[in-house]
Amino acid sequence: MWEKVFKAVDQNFDQMVKTRRHLHKYPEVSFKETKTAAFIAETYERLGIPFQNEVGGNGVIATLEGGKPGKKIALRADFDALPIHEENDTEYKSTVDGVMHACGHDGHTAALLGLAEAVVPFKEELPGTMVFLHQHAEEYAPGGAKPIIESGVLDDVDAVFGTHLWVDAPTGVIQTAKKEFMAGADRFHITVKGKGGHGAIPHQTKDAIVIASQLVTSLQQIVSRRLDPLSTAVLTVGTFESGNAFNVIADSAALTGTVRTFDPQIQNTIIEEMDKIIKGTCTGYGADYEFDYYKGYPPVINHKAEAELILRDASKADPNLRTEEIAPVMAGEDFAYYLQNKPGTYYFTGAQIPDHYYPHHHPKFDFDEAALPYAAKTLFQAYRSYQEE
Ligand code: MN
Repeated sequence: MWEKVFKAVDQNFDQMVKTRRHLHKYPEVSFKETKTAAFIAETYERLGIPFQNEVGGNGVIATLEGGKPGKKIALRADFDALPIHEENDTEYKSTVDGVMHACGHDGHTAALLGLAEAVVPFKEELPGTMVFLHQHAEEYAPGGAKPIIESGVLDDVDAVFGTHLWVDAPTGVIQTAKKEFMAGADRFHITVKGKGGHGAIPHQTKDAIVIASQLVTSLQQIVSRRLDPLSTAVLTVGTFESGNAFNVIADSAALTGTVRTFDPQIQNTIIEEMDKIIKGTCTGYGADYEFDYYKGYPPVINHKAEAELILRDASKADPNLRTEEIAPVMAGEDFAYYLQNKPGTYYFTGAQIPDHYYPHHHPKFDFDEAALPYAAKTLFQAYRSYQEE
């Protein structure tokens, strides 16, 4: 039966590509993914797999009970897009201005739906219960995973597995780590409130651009000069907005950015140091400020036994696959919450297009569709391995 399902996934390749391209053309941002959720629900309706929609928001959870006894395992795919304007010129490019599937969640959805389609004909031979966990709003904290867990639908699930199509790895490579896998991802907003004035009369002003520029450079030194060099963190200022005219000194400047860590103690050190630097710098210049720090997703910490299953068995899903244990990456993921509640593992399915490499969240991001069956088959292999454990 397992081999038959793998084969059926391969036979569904064209359908998976079609689904992926449809979703890619009609992306929806986090918490607004109602049409995407309806599309997913319609697929389960057609397949005759019972599902619940509006789970914790726009989540769709379908449950396929196999004909044989076994464990209940959830396989997760997220389905939201990003507020990015697509710069690719493919026939399936986004039709929505300023919204784009720039992280591959269209592919995650297509792969999981493709797997559902492949499994249905063999459900009588399937041990256990397969939960298709379609999650909304991964891209924007507080995210969709938390409310889905809080809804209770996963309470009786034994384990959760998920994968991210990953353009930093070649197609055919499956990557994971046995413990820390992805970082905790926080967000901050700083507003410097100076005093504006004539560009030629600086002494009567408190130049918000100069003060905020000092902040940008000083904040960089938290990681390089305040943390143990053997600990890991990233602090990035991602936006800097200020000013209205070339000859006017700006009265305010707004900075936003992100902090990534694996350890709550380091996270708290960074927050304290940021607070000191912002206060010290602004006070020194006689300016006021606002500093808001939002703790986002916790780090993705894989469970060792389940990660070992992936590393040992994922390549059994297809002769073209090999697995690789990697160092953690600094990107964040709300898959973290599932792993705080249940055993499981998150892993990457390599999907790089060799002559078109743009990182995740780039306006020219695209992934290799040949990886879609690999994502679907390795999820099914994870299900199989966990049943047989
Ligand atoms: Mn993503």
